[in-house]
Amino acid sequence: MKIDIIVAYIQRYEFGHEKDFVPPITGIHLAAITPQKHEVKVIHQQVEAIDFDSDADLIAISFFSGFANAAYHIAGEYKKKNKMVIGGGPHVTYNEEESLQYFDSIVTGEAENVWELLLHDAEKGTLKNIYRGTPCDMKNLPAPRYDLLPNKYFIKKVLQATRGCPFSCSFCTVPSLNPGFRLRPVEDVIRDASYDDFPYWWQRKVVWFWDDNLTIRRPYIKSLLKEMIPLKKWWLTQASMDIAQDAELLDLMKKSGCIGVFLEIESFWGSFLKDANKRQNKI
Ligand code: SF4
Repeated sequence: MKIDIIVAYIQRYEFGHEKDFVPPITGIHLAAITPQKHEVKVIHQQVEAIDFDSDADLIAISFFSGFANAAYHIAGEYKKKNKMVIGGGPHVTYNEEESLQYFDSIVTGEAENVWELLLHDAEKGTLKNIYRGTPCDMKNLPAPRYDLLPNKYFIKKVLQATRGCPFSCSFCTVPSLNPGFRLRPVEDVIRDASYDDFPYWWQRKVVWFWDDNLTIRRPYIKSLLKEMIPLKKWWLTQASMDIAQDAELLDLMKKSGCIGVFLEIESFWGSFLKDANKRQNKI
């Protein structure tokens, strides 16, 4: 089959780096776990126009709630052309009934364990309404299909070393969307971080970890960072505030090329932090 994986997007700011700074990992990861007998394309609406005249047999659209309207519009246009249209991502997971009005089939939760079955059913014409993904064990995952990303992106080397988060902040989707905290083998992560087939030096140099809480399992992150040091990369991620109390970790982060961490402070009010179940942030 010919498969188009579309990552829906609505531009939120008129100016600024967001437009073509860094891609989500979903599209190129899904492409990587697609069996090789299929022909797959990944289209990021963030930087590319969508080809509504595509000759693909199956259109898979990934999105989160902020982009649901864009995704539904895209789905509607393809349905008019009698394409099989699949929806996936957080919004679909939490809004099954709504999403099923727009798609032939939806994938809830994590797609890895059901993607191949879905493609098999699509080929046989026995597509089910819902494929409920279960948490992926994160073992033996191939490198994302970096070759399918447009050069327009400033950063191209996006990857995940862990999935999930052991905390349970009340406002956050991660604990229910990606339950359990899972780790990829360090050698797989180093393989992806070492991928260098990009045209520009900054695309080779910068590694963007799309993890929700990369640093939380200390023995794991410390062994990963020790392996990162010889690569001489710059890297960025998200982490929780507890890293501030671990001098050894901070040293390793610096030595391995950390240039940015997205930290969630949320509030300086103890009562809010308590309500939000944000026990890891200490005022
Ligand atoms: S620490 Fe971050 S990723 Fe983890 S539950 Fe809280 S907000 Fe979500």
